[in-house]
Amino acid sequence: MAVAASPGATRSPDKLAMQGGARSVPRSLRIPAWPRVTEADEAAVMRTVASGRFTSASSGEQEIESLEREWAEAVGAKHCVMVSNGTAAISVALGALDIQPGDEVIVPALSFIASAVAPLHILAVPVFVDIDPRTFNVTPEAVEAAITPRTRAIVVVHLHGLPVDMTEILAVADKHGIPVVEDAAQAHGALYQGRAVGSLGAINTFSLNVSKNLATCGEGGLITTDDDKLARRALMLRQFGELIPKQGERSYVGHMLGFNHKPNAIQAAFTRSQLERLPEEAEIRDENVRYFLDRLSALPGLLTPYVPEDRTHAWHILRFRVDPTALGLDPSLAGPLRASLMRALRAEGVPAGHYQMMSLPQQRVFQEQLGYGGYPWQLPGVEPRQYRAEDQPVTLAVIDDSFAIQKAHLSPDARPLLAAYADAFEKVWQHREVWTRYAAAMEHRTPWEKAAEISEAEWAEANA
Ligand SMILES: *Cc1c(COP(=O)(O)O)cnc(C)c1O
Repeated sequence: MAVAASPGATRSPDKLAMQGGARSVPRSLRIPAWPRVTEADEAAVMRTVASGRFTSASSGEQEIESLEREWAEAVGAKHCVMVSNGTAAISVALGALDIQPGDEVIVPALSFIASAVAPLHILAVPVFVDIDPRTFNVTPEAVEAAITPRTRAIVVVHLHGLPVDMTEILAVADKHGIPVVEDAAQAHGALYQGRAVGSLGAINTFSLNVSKNLATCGEGGLITTDDDKLARRALMLRQFGELIPKQGERSYVGHMLGFNHKPNAIQAAFTRSQLERLPEEAEIRDENVRYFLDRLSALPGLLTPYVPEDRTHAWHILRFRVDPTALGLDPSLAGPLRASLMRALRAEGVPAGHYQMMSLPQQRVFQEQLGYGGYPWQLPGVEPRQYRAEDQPVTLAVIDDSFAIQKAHLSPDARPLLAAYADAFEKVWQHREVWTRYAAAMEHRTPWEKAAEISEAEWAEANA
């Protein structure tokens, strides 16, 4: 599917756009909207508005209970509890496991910040582990090495939509008697050895944020578990620690320190409608992305996403690493090569960007231990700890030598756009002597060095 150069262009299509040539991806080719909003979705929202049943204060609210039943079924879990967002889902899941202040919770060094601040919100101490350079997920070895007598939970993230090595991680966790929480915010519908993510850990979480593969019209989260007690505790934690009766009057008795992380019925109705199309849309996305990656796999020095045989990828984010040696450059030039390649691609109209410019332990909240007035780190019995980025070298290498494509490929309508992106990659590779030469000559700043500058400027503003 070749795409013609923009009509009337006087710029040469044979020259890279970064050198003044014509852009490869036509401007008329827009990123298709995600989530796709259909008449059925609108009708679901309007039906809920018309019903007048907005409160989620009681059990038996149709849309919320129905979504919970349908998602539990889709995942193959016994229970599902809907909450207000994916971050709240992690805090509630950890709370259901009775994680106490000062307990250690293992989390990946590469993820969205929510994976690490959710434990902090309940005064648990995050302990970071490094990732695998091919899957970008935590490894069983790194997880086991991080376990101490204070470890009370392991939060694994199926990063970008690829399931972690659950069998091996569960074996490590079982050996030490520690529950695993799957943070599946990026992996709705992905399968590991034939089973859906969200059905493998003790209690597991999803986000329904508009950016995710299963979205709501705003914010939402889902928790899944097979355990009756954990499900009941999650329900209590979402609503002031109350035990909400199936029928009859609400007692207003709080039995534990609960949150108000209730969802709303409109969000549930919208997601139920989206869920009906999830399998079909995921299948088309899979075909589109495979077509795109197939074309890119021919390009020397570009490492396309790796999917082990025993699992599927939900393709939430596409991350590409570069291999300088395949382009005749020294391995130390991986970061500069990624930076110059990104510039070339962006000039052609490919939205190559960063997903995380720093590792989670590099975030200010961990570097400066900004908790609740020094807690949880200053709690009695908690060992003094310093978060050091160098402790997760693979995470840093991946952040420096990879870039990501996000959102553009999510819609089933993205095929023509992905074809144009593949054309752009191929063009960029035809002229690879240009950007490899730049890479060898440029002064490189890592993404986290750039992020630190942004951080300094914003910090001043935040504290003005
Ligand atoms: C999006 C995301 C979350 C948080 O979900 P919200 O609904 O935005 O709170 C948690 N973990 C990961 C890995 C995510 O990508």
